[in-house]
Amino acid sequence: MKITSVDIIAIKKVVLSEMRPVIVRVNTDEGFYGLGEIGVAIVTGAYGALEVIKDFVPMIIGMDPFDTEVIWQKLHMQTFWAIGNGGVVMSAVSAIDTALWDLKARALGLPLYKLLGGKQREKLHAYASQLQFGWNVDGFTLQHTPEGYAEMARRAVADGFDTIKANVIKTDRQGNNIEAKDWAGLATTDYFRIAEERLAAMRDAVGPKVDIILENHATTDTVSGIRIGQMAEAYGVILMEEPANPLNIDNFIKIAANTSIPLATGERSYTRWGFKDLITSGALAVIQPDIGNCGGVSEFKKIADFAKLYDVGVQAHVCSSPISVAVSLQLEAVIPNFAIHEHHVTNTTKEVKEMCIYDYQPINGFFEIPELPGIGQDLSEKALAEASIITMK
Ligand code: MG
Repeated sequence: MKITSVDIIAIKKVVLSEMRPVIVRVNTDEGFYGLGEIGVAIVTGAYGALEVIKDFVPMIIGMDPFDTEVIWQKLHMQTFWAIGNGGVVMSAVSAIDTALWDLKARALGLPLYKLLGGKQREKLHAYASQLQFGWNVDGFTLQHTPEGYAEMARRAVADGFDTIKANVIKTDRQGNNIEAKDWAGLATTDYFRIAEERLAAMRDAVGPKVDIILENHATTDTVSGIRIGQMAEAYGVILMEEPANPLNIDNFIKIAANTSIPLATGERSYTRWGFKDLITSGALAVIQPDIGNCGGVSEFKKIADFAKLYDVGVQAHVCSSPISVAVSLQLEAVIPNFAIHEHHVTNTTKEVKEMCIYDYQPINGFFEIPELPGIGQDLSEKALAEASIITMK
């Protein structure tokens, strides 16, 4: 079998979140194809990765799609910049690698998990993610009042989730964005009060049995991260995500030494090289590689297996289209150190659901693992009709 062409599919921009998913479809001379998504669909960089993929396609035309390791090494070692890591270039590698794994599994008529060693669990425990953007509001409605956070937490629990995640530091009392610079140096005491009021409101709303994860989006610095962690201890928080910039692991080590809240990061880290210090530092309980930017299916599996050596749990970072959701379900079924699945609010919205033909949603907070060939997902006619598609041969 040979790769004959690649379609680079820029899905119509999502109105509510401005997400710009780019899907790669790798085609072959035997009619089989596979889909992969770039992992920088949100905020900035999506079309930068699209341009990188254009440069990569001529390198893989004519190759055997079953040679995933050969192709990965070629894209990593012969493209100059991939050796140095980075979200945009590694998203391009990831989308192609993921499409090849999907293609292999479709060609064999097997769900992807079978090719990766089989599923270790029948269902995946999931959490409702990013409640500051709302829940069951069919869109993004940025919350800023404690009552608003409490209401969204109640809605997620009513949907069957026993674990929720929210960013309680994003805005001030009026709903204006608090910038990273405001959480650096000497952040004002009132900002910590605002965060605590929101966290306390969620805890009151859901009772003692629901687990809460805090999401700092790497906007707090080390001192602020420690203070948020110490504040959160009274509220039974089980994980704090990105309390500082993950590029200096020394700061995570300091935060871990000063709070009992377990720490997580990973959506902005790429390849085994990027995860090495995170995993070996001992500062993290959970890593969150994004299959769409960490190096694809091949690299995600290697990172997860490396993390297992250090008893670090793994959750795939998910914040883009249902293609990314589908591949994450396959990988999380396989890895021994699966922690929990991230169900992002964007994947509950009509606009995003309509991109694909299958709508995978958790039932009572647990995902079933799709049994269809490959990743078990395809783009809808609507998404394809509205997309901008570049075909390269
Ligand atoms: Mg995050």
